[in-house]
Amino acid sequence: MPLFRSASGDAAMVRLETGTDLLEALGEAAAELGMRAGAIQLIGAVSELALAYYDQDAAEYRDLRTPGHWEIASGLGNVSLRDGEPFVHVHLVCTGADGHAVGGHLTAGTTVFMVEAFLQALDGEPPVRTRNERIGLDVWH
Ligand code: ZN
Repeated sequence: MPLFRSASGDAAMVRLETGTDLLEALGEAAAELGMRAGAIQLIGAVSELALAYYDQDAAEYRDLRTPGHWEIASGLGNVSLRDGEPFVHVHLVCTGADGHAVGGHLTAGTTVFMVEAFLQALDGEPPVRTRNERIGLDVWH
């Protein structure tokens, strides 16, 4: 993947390869940058979109059905440590052919058509995700 690193070395612009899994590719870009924590932003398009919605009452993710091709109108996320490894967490707002939007939590199964991402590493102590039983999620501590 073409990766354009900042002079400081702690940020990069990257184009993700067509046909790759978006979540995996963002993880690889973060690894390439040596990122243990930081911020991600992205725009582009995907040929398949797999999002989820967190059902707060059931304390579980529900898959959203999103057939078709989509523009990524806005993608924002972060990297932090979970079980000692960098963990990528991204939310997307995507638009369809008629301009309507869908959004949610990015899951595996989203296929890159063309994506441009910016990653910025945190130059301090990384947040660590651990289980919060009250909300049923791994959150920063
Ligand atoms: Zn999420």
